[in-house]
Amino acid sequence: MEKFSDLKVRPETLQAIQALGFEKPFPIQAKALPYALAGRDIVAQAQTGTGKTAVFGIPIVEKVGPFTKDLQALVIVPTRELAMQVAEEIKSYTFDPVRIAPIYGGVSIENQINDLRQGLQVVVGTPGRLLDHLERRTIDFSKVRMLVLDEVDRMLDMGFIEDIERLVSRVPRQRHTMLFSATIPAKIRELAQKYLHDPADVSVRIGTLAAEKVKQYYVDVKEWNKFVTLREILATQPIGTLMIFCRTKAKAHRVGANLQRAGFSALSIHGDLTQAQRTHALTQFREGKLQILVATDVAARGLDIEGVTHVMNYDLPDDLDSYVHRIGRTARAGKEGVSISFITHEDHQIFRKVMDLMGGTIEKMDVTLPLGVGERPPAGWKEERPPRGRGGAGRGRSFGGGRGGGGRGGRRGPPRRGRRPGSGGGGQSHHSSP
Ligand code: ADP
Ligand code: MG
Repeated sequence: MEKFSDLKVRPETLQAIQALGFEKPFPIQAKALPYALAGRDIVAQAQTGTGKTAVFGIPIVEKVGPFTKDLQALVIVPTRELAMQVAEEIKSYTFDPVRIAPIYGGVSIENQINDLRQGLQVVVGTPGRLLDHLERRTIDFSKVRMLVLDEVDRMLDMGFIEDIERLVSRVPRQRHTMLFSATIPAKIRELAQKYLHDPADVSVRIGTLAAEKVKQYYVDVKEWNKFVTLREILATQPIGTLMIFCRTKAKAHRVGANLQRAGFSALSIHGDLTQAQRTHALTQFREGKLQILVATDVAARGLDIEGVTHVMNYDLPDDLDSYVHRIGRTARAGKEGVSISFITHEDHQIFRKVMDLMGGTIEKMDVTLPLGVGERPPAGWKEERPPRGRGGAGRGRSFGGGRGGGGRGGRRGPPRRGRRPGSGGGGQSHHSSP
């Protein structure tokens, strides 16, 4: 299939696709849509930003019957923001008044119960809240004919495997099932074998898209001079919109607050904020009213935010997939983008693997700090180094690091094995932010 018009879909659907400005199918769509529309189960592997939503969104709007209010299609996604985004995207594939809504936690369940009672034909939900509705018997899976598991690797990382299995076991066996993931480790193969019927395997090679479209840089830094280095970059580089990734919630919060104090238009999103705060930050950022969004991996998972010009790895992620996911926030849908990764001494091993994956295309960026700044850790500096891994779920909520500009990592974190000079200090932490 080379053109959308080659697809076996209604003319109205083609019009909706055209109205979105999609000129031709992305590779994963060209490969997977014919199967998906024919009702064949699929396992689709492609990294973020490759257009996977349309692979299930188009078949859903094609097949949802307009004459019944029954819940016919269920899409399970890892995060609240994705639930909202994917629900919107599916709506955009049709001009029909399809009854579709996101169902996620962190907000009142009553409105959702009302919506469900009035009849939703398509639900895009997060595992926890969906189970909650199942237990309350406020959602009925008995008429579901299409099941989509999106961003499955992330759902596994976030510990949702049992929830997913419980949900899937409640969906009728006679159904069309589609699974999407940026990576397919053995565990996901197992899931696919268990819950899918003779799936077609479709994949688009990892790394290629990101490597081609994103100009990637790295900067050698010390943990304690990351913030001054960030400020220097902001002062010297032409940066439109910037998404900054941090390892922990506390750090994302602190970097956001310090940027604000330094006069930048910045907000953070992470799991310690209320849903309203997260949505507010995202909306501001999407609408171009906010220049800098600081996020943890988990909060930013799979979000499609248009026109991000720069992505920064303030902390290098723990694995290659996350790196590819993160830089996939920029250069979406064929645009060019820039990524900048801070590399500390401890990051070298992982960074070497990133470099290999990207075929050595990551260039060094030299950032000259003001004379005498950031050469040594500030007095009383204490390294923040929570255990690596698991989606940056740092414990505790002390947002240290006081004054802007210093970038002092004064958070009282779990102690680290190899201690640094000066790390025995009082560990005082200024509660400086909202
Ligand atoms: P994924 O789920 O693989 O991360 P998305 O489905 O979110 O990717 O798509 C990424 C972006 O590309 C979205 O903004 C989407 O609207 C856009 N997009 C998808 N398919 C096409 C296409 N064929 N042509 C142009 N833009 C597209
Ligand atoms: Mg997606």
